[in-house]
Amino acid sequence: MTPDIQDTIVALSSAPGRGGRAIVRLSGPNAIKISFAFFKLTDQVSAASESPQFSSECLAPGTQYSVLVAPMIRSRNEGFLRLPDFQPSIPATLLAWPGPGTYTGQNLAELHLLACPPLVDLLVANLLNAGARAAQPGEFTLRAFLAGKIDLPRAEAVLGVIEAGSRNDLKLALGQLAGGITRPLEGLREDLLDLLAEVEAGLDFAEEDVRFVQPEELLKRLAYGLAQLTLLAKQLAKRAVSGDGFRVVLAGRPNAGKSSLFNALTGASALVSPEPGTTRDYLVRQIVIDGMPIDLIDTAGWREQRNLIEEQAQGLGRQQTEQADLILLCLEAGQEINEDESKLLARTEPPSVCGIATKCDLVPEPPDRLATSAKTGAGLDALRDLLAEHARQRLSSSLAPSLSRCRHHVQAALEHLRRAHSVVLFQEPSEMLALELRGALDGLGELVGAVYTDDLLDRIFSRFCIGK
Ligand code: GDP
Repeated sequence: MTPDIQDTIVALSSAPGRGGRAIVRLSGPNAIKISFAFFKLTDQVSAASESPQFSSECLAPGTQYSVLVAPMIRSRNEGFLRLPDFQPSIPATLLAWPGPGTYTGQNLAELHLLACPPLVDLLVANLLNAGARAAQPGEFTLRAFLAGKIDLPRAEAVLGVIEAGSRNDLKLALGQLAGGITRPLEGLREDLLDLLAEVEAGLDFAEEDVRFVQPEELLKRLAYGLAQLTLLAKQLAKRAVSGDGFRVVLAGRPNAGKSSLFNALTGASALVSPEPGTTRDYLVRQIVIDGMPIDLIDTAGWREQRNLIEEQAQGLGRQQTEQADLILLCLEAGQEINEDESKLLARTEPPSVCGIATKCDLVPEPPDRLATSAKTGAGLDALRDLLAEHARQRLSSSLAPSLSRCRHHVQAALEHLRRAHSVVLFQEPSEMLALELRGALDGLGELVGAVYTDDLLDRIFSRFCIGK
C-alpha cells in the first residue's frame, strides 16, 4: 500500500558509516518544524542567494523556528544540535526548503553533521520521537513522483544513477533522468488526446454524418504517431543491449601475453612477438558469449615511454582502460606483481578489475587467480564464462526493469496505433477508432506513470535504498 504522504518522514540519505558528512533528510508538513526542535542557530547564519525576501535580522543567535516560519524561505543555517540526554552541542548545518517548490513538493529539511554513526542514530531517534516517521525505501523519490515533479521513467532513472556500475550505465541513467524516454512522448500524448476528443465528438453527431476530422488528416496524424513510437521502440531496444557491447580491456605489462589471449579469444591475429611493446595502438573485436556482446580491446602494455609513438599508444591504451566496463589484468605466471598491478587489483571504484594468470603452460598455476594459457587453450572456457557473467550482471543493471517496462508499454501503444491506422484505412466504425486511441493513450499513460497501481509503485520504489 502507498504510504501516507502527509506523514513527515526522516532518513539518513548519505552513505551509512563513518565519513566526512552525514545528511539526515526530512520531508513532509512538519519537516522544518521538527528539525528546529533540536537545531539552534549560531550567529553564523547565511541565507541562500535566491531568497530575496530573506531577513537576516530575524536570524539572530537563538532565533527559533516560530520566528523563522513567517514568511517561510529557503535557508542555509549554521548552528549546532542539542539532543536531550546528550551533553555536548554538535556542530551542524540545517538546510530548509519550504514546499511546494522542492524535490518532493513538500517542506524539506536536511541536517548535515559529522558522519559518526552513533551520533546520527541518536539524532534520527530524536527526530522520530518528535513526530517524524522512518522513511521507507525510495519514499523521497516516490513523493517527488506523486507530487508530479518527475514521471515514472525519471523516478526509475534516479535509481539507475545511484546504482550505475559503469560510465555507460551512468550515461544511460542520466539520459533517462533528463527525459530521454518521456520527452518525445509529451507532444504525442497531447495530439492523441486531441484526436480522441475530435473522434468522440464526431460520435455524438454520427446520425448527421458530421466529421470533426477528415480521414486524410487522421491518417497523417496517426502515421506521425506511429513513426515517433517506432523510433522510441528502436531506441529502447538499443539501450537494452547497451549498444556498444560490454567493454573488456586487456591490460598489463608488455609481453604479459595480452595479444595472444586476445587472438585466442577472438580468433583474430594481433601481432604477437617476444619483443616487448609490439601492440602500438589498440585493437577492438566483438565476440558473443552466451548471447552477450563483448567488445574485447587489446592495448599497448605499460612501460617507460621511449618515444612519441609509444607515448601516444600508451595514451590511447589508458583512454580505453578508463572507458572499460571490466579490466582484465594479465599477469604472467611466475612473475612478481609490481606496485602498479597491486594498486589496480585493489581498486574498488568502477571499472572492476580482474587479475588473470597467463602462460600457465610454462610454470605451475598460481592458486589464487584464474590460470590461462593462450598456447594450450587451458582456462579459456572459464575465462569466457567469467566475461559472460560480468556482461550479464551489467545488462541486468538497475535500469533493466525500467527499460523492459517502457518497452512493454511502447509496444502496446504501437499495436493500438497500428490498429487505429487500419480502422481509418478500411473505413471501419469510428467507435473502433476511439477504442484503439484510448488503448494507445492507456499504454503511454502507464509508461509515464499517469496511470499506475499501488502494486506497480511498490515494485519500483522498494528497489531503492532508504533515504533516496
Ligand atoms: P603482449 O605484449 O602482452 O601482447 O604479449 P604477447 O601476446 O605479444 O606475447 C608475448 C610473448 O609471450 C610472445 O612470444 C608469445 O608467443 C608468448 N606467449 C603469449 N602467451 C603465451 C602462452 O600462453 N604460453 C606461452 N608459452 N607463451 C606465450
